Amino acid sequence: MTAITLVQGDITEQTADAIVNAANSSLLGGGGVDGAIHRRGGPAILEECRKLRASVYGGGLPTGRAVATTAGKLNAAHVIHTVGPVWTPGEDRSALLASCYRQSLRIAAELGARTVAFPAISTGIYGWPIADGARIAVRTVREAAAPPVEEVRFVLFDQEAYDAFEAALAEPA
Ligand code: ADP
Repeated sequence: MTAITLVQGDITEQTADAIVNAANSSLLGGGGVDGAIHRRGGPAILEECRKLRASVYGGGLPTGRAVATTAGKLNAAHVIHTVGPVWTPGEDRSALLASCYRQSLRIAAELGARTVAFPAISTGIYGWPIADGARIAVRTVREAAAPPVEEVRFVLFDQEAYDAFEAALAEPA
């Protein structure tokens, strides 16, 4: 069974086989986690992202999908970029948020990753309420994590996000 762990901190300081990026569909960088990953990981990540835009993802990476690149100077072998849905009142986009976690885990497994670090996708600039985002994240990882992934680590930037994930983990599976 895959262990689910929580840490509070900056995801770019983590050591893991794969670090997941809350990217946007352009794959060309942005704010939040995305900006931090490109800043700290260096230009090699953006270079691969540009190649993806020039080939398979000419129109951008669709919401809910994921794709891997090098991790550049990060303490990881891979960055897995995934595009979370923007929180849209009156519309249930939770399947797309779950898809981000599921697809990222599938790619991590294909790459042979044993440890995967996730941020709280969509809960920053994209506005998803943290309690709901945490529930979807934990539920989906519980369902979808499989060997060779041994540890899924949620890396939460602030106390509120950490508390929300702790509460979601305390709910019965
Ligand atoms: P999105 O556009 O998917 O909402 P953001 O990067 O804006 O992505 O935010 C996603 C979550 O990551 C938010 O909870 C935000 O507080 C958090 N966050 C921002 N920077 C970092 C970082 N360096 N490490 C970990 N989490 C971060």
